[in-house]
Amino acid sequence: MKSILLFLIGLQLFSCDKMKTKDKMDKKIVIAHRGASGYLPEHTMESKAMAFAMNPDFIEQDLVLSKDDVPIVIHDIYLDDVTDVATKFPTRKREDNRYYVIDFTFKELQTLAVSERFNPATGEQFYPNRYPKGKGNFKLHSLQQEIELIQGLNTTTQKNIGIYPEIKAPKFHQNEGKNLTEIVLKVLADYGYKTKNDACILQCFDAKELERIRKELHSELFLVQLIEFPEALKNLAHFATYADGIGPWYKQILKQKLDGEWQFTSVVADAHALGLKLHPYTFRADQLEDFSSFEEMLQTLLIDANIDGAFTDFPDLVVKFLDTQK
Ligand code: CA
Repeated sequence: MKSILLFLIGLQLFSCDKMKTKDKMDKKIVIAHRGASGYLPEHTMESKAMAFAMNPDFIEQDLVLSKDDVPIVIHDIYLDDVTDVATKFPTRKREDNRYYVIDFTFKELQTLAVSERFNPATGEQFYPNRYPKGKGNFKLHSLQQEIELIQGLNTTTQKNIGIYPEIKAPKFHQNEGKNLTEIVLKVLADYGYKTKNDACILQCFDAKELERIRKELHSELFLVQLIEFPEALKNLAHFATYADGIGPWYKQILKQKLDGEWQFTSVVADAHALGLKLHPYTFRADQLEDFSSFEEMLQTLLIDANIDGAFTDFPDLVVKFLDTQK
């Protein structure tokens, strides 16, 4: 009996649930990319609730502003590849034939049906083996609504799962006369996300904007510089002047496979030498490309290359893999 009690106390002491974000970073983390998007349409509340139940460390929110300045959780500035906007509001497209989130009020956006991602030109589903396109009853939601879902679930489950918001296309928003970043920072602060002690990591591809967030807006949040093009890897030392981590494409870590052994670029060692964590994107069990199995991808990048976390559409599989490493 006594040993069981000690064991339970030990579990409590070593539980990661209540860890501060900056301490949580000392272990490898799982980021639910657009929710449990391998199983349910991306960025829906259902996808986020399912992800939460899979015990990732963080759940991701991509953010774009509505016409009335509400931060909407959606991957692109467009609506037509994940909603029925083209049939509900056929006259509201721009000259490029695209429908923009920013042209619709939050109230209008909430009337749209959200679907598994598809090609708006052909109607074809992007990942053919995922949730069937056009089925179910899914809606768009705001950042505030999603934070309330995650914080509410943290209360009822006694967990401390974090959020991992991304400022999308800041220049586009500026050209439209809007300041997405400042609106998002205000919402985050209102919900208690202000410093590296809070369960929040803020990410952005736009390096100027992320630098501004640290140096001009004086955010104390954990910041991750996303990296699209390999040329940007030359700027790691500069990124380290404002960011706490980088989010490269996972292929930027792989060099080549020689005699069955993966060789790596210097990006992990270079980033670690500067004190930067690495959270590469995107780990998809149904899009393996360089690997023969998802297990090989996880072993190669998380263990052999020694990255610090993974954005994944399949959070359950990565959580399970890391559990087996303990
Ligand atoms: Ca993202």
